[in-house]
Amino acid sequence: MSYVQEVFETVKRRNPGELEFHQAVAEVLESLEPVIDKHPEYREFRLLDRIVEPERQIIFRVPWEDDLGNIHVNRGFRVQFNSAIGPYKGGLRFHPSVNLGIIKFLGFEQIFKNSLTGLPIGGGKGGSDFDPKGKSDREIMRFCQSFMSELAQHIGPDVDVPAGDIGVGGREIGFLYGQYKRLKNATEAGVLTGKGIPFGGSLARTEATGYGTVYFLNEMLTDKGLELKGKTVVISGSGNVSLYACKKCQEYGAKVVAMSDSNGYIYDKNGIDLNLMIRLKEIERKRIKEYKNYHPEAEYSENCRAIWSVKCDLALPCATQNELNEQEAAVLIENGVIAVAEGANMPSTAEAAKLFQAHKVMFGPAKAANAGGVATSALEMSQNSMRYSWTFAEVDQKLHQIMANIYTMSKNAAQEFGLEGNLIAGANIAGFQKVAAAMMALGIY
Ligand code: NDP
Repeated sequence: MSYVQEVFETVKRRNPGELEFHQAVAEVLESLEPVIDKHPEYREFRLLDRIVEPERQIIFRVPWEDDLGNIHVNRGFRVQFNSAIGPYKGGLRFHPSVNLGIIKFLGFEQIFKNSLTGLPIGGGKGGSDFDPKGKSDREIMRFCQSFMSELAQHIGPDVDVPAGDIGVGGREIGFLYGQYKRLKNATEAGVLTGKGIPFGGSLARTEATGYGTVYFLNEMLTDKGLELKGKTVVISGSGNVSLYACKKCQEYGAKVVAMSDSNGYIYDKNGIDLNLMIRLKEIERKRIKEYKNYHPEAEYSENCRAIWSVKCDLALPCATQNELNEQEAAVLIENGVIAVAEGANMPSTAEAAKLFQAHKVMFGPAKAANAGGVATSALEMSQNSMRYSWTFAEVDQKLHQIMANIYTMSKNAAQEFGLEGNLIAGANIAGFQKVAAAMMALGIY
């Protein structure tokens, strides 16, 4: 058995039932076989055994009171996975599906993604099985305050810097930061990113993940002499990542014809009316089916996964993990898809990703394609440290450059190890190399 296989067997044995975590580890380890062959010292120093084990895992009780005075208890998580190259960094997810395995998969991915940005940030992730849907603003506030009352002991601008993810946007970050400030009696703006602009947020952070995904997609296309202009696009989800991916696609002259939420999808052959979508989903927090009230000619289907049967040139899964499986990938391929860029984390199953690659569909894996969010979070941290703020254009230009660099690094790493065109392996290898070098230099820890 190879060292890589040996480590994977241990991961499965020690983390039973954490299927998403196994999936994320399997994908990375598989890519690292040629790197380990080249670096026998990694085996000697048991580097992989250490990198798959979080440095620290925190699980805590989050009691809160609803508007009617009923008491609820949720579970909070923070997994501080790897701090070799900087403070732990990664979002908080509030969704009923959250459990330790989900947070570990996300935290593990974050290590390599953060490394790819070229910025000094380690990997972590957190969240809760709390469901924000249908809750009043006051209930959200009380939950966030309770959550932060515990989390505050474990984070800090040089220790661990959470941000948003599914179910955690600007509103939640505001409540979380407010509670942190009260507990610490200090302005430590760099403790959270994705903050509102009046209290230390960065311009372009809201847009960054979606914009970054499309910048990455544009790099892939340009490299093949193609362009976004005139292409038909399908984007799953209608949250933070999806909305701004849609905006950037439209700016490049592409036509986004379908978007979804967990209840269904909208198909608008005239192109999605983005201002309406932003109002419905981001401001009014409504369901996507309401879109049809304003555009009766649009079609609504109650099967959100059927979005992958819509014919398109470019597919951007931007909702959640494993939302695109092998059969759905086959339908996209049959309908002529030429490129897929993952805005969400691990949205394609391993089989779907392999099928795209086997059919020469350009494939931008999440770690690389959606790294623009965390990269801009790191730029927010820089601005907080400097007590200064850059303009939207300055941040956007840095983001664009970072995404172009990530593309080049991933492409070159794949080439170096004889895996030309395989950006999954390239991103994993390029992200791993910096963290591995740091861990080797820091001694056995
Ligand atoms: P939001 O909460 O803003 O939006 C999530 C969207 O995905 C919603 O439309 C939601 O629909 C849909 N969705 C969530 N869970 C499911 C599910 N189980 N089945 C079907 N649809 C679902 O989250 P974000 O846009 O921030 O995050 C989306 C993805 O992008 C996640 O994978 C996240 O980890 C990843 N990501 C986010 C970053 C960021 O900066 N925000 C950075 C990098 C990656 P509904 O409203 O019905 O729940």
